[in-house]
Amino acid sequence: MALEIVQVEVGLLQNFDELCADPETGDCAIVDPAFEVDRLLHLARARNWRITTVLVTHTHHDHVDGVAELCAATGAVARVGEGEADALRAVAPRAVVRPIADGEVVTLGAERITAMATPGHTIAGMSYRTDGAIITGDTLFVGGVGRTDFPGGDPRALWRSLQRIAALPEETRVYPGHDYGATPTSTVGWERTTNPYLRCGSEDEFVALRSGRTAPRPTRGPR
Ligand SMILES: [Zn+2]
Repeated sequence: MALEIVQVEVGLLQNFDELCADPETGDCAIVDPAFEVDRLLHLARARNWRITTVLVTHTHHDHVDGVAELCAATGAVARVGEGEADALRAVAPRAVVRPIADGEVVTLGAERITAMATPGHTIAGMSYRTDGAIITGDTLFVGGVGRTDFPGGDPRALWRSLQRIAALPEETRVYPGHDYGATPTSTVGWERTTNPYLRCGSEDEFVALRSGRTAPRPTRGPR
């Protein structure tokens, strides 16, 4: 069986969370809990899933404000890129926070999720990859990419991170951190051919587009 991924839109900023579980054992990870923790707990409970892990893509408040509550309720261990571990500990001081490195594997029953370092939107952003899917946080949206003008943002690092994602098999399903696109999910192949940021021919072209020097942002809303 494959890892089961349930996408949930929460809060008022069009945030997406994912529940990822091995349906056999019910071992479950939740990505980026910030809002509506009671609802996330209910969704897991209704499926007889046990939340063992919180996976954090990055530590902007709309991705981590629920980590303390969720970890307190479940005893789950929170994982985050090393460079943002202290920021996570600051918002969830009682949670067990364990840094995760590029390529490190989290097991959920018989299923595996692999961390992929995707800095650029933040200093230590992480994406999480399974067979056939990648959860991209604010690195890649459907039709867009994350901002790079917050502290720790770096458009050249984001370009390199996007190149790694774009190199995945084209059928890989993309689960973004916000519902900013025409559809809630997409695929690597679709983004490669339609996302203006992934269609850039060079790093410099990307940086110019991302900084707004060459074209307006193609998608709506803050990111
Ligand atoms: Zn963000």
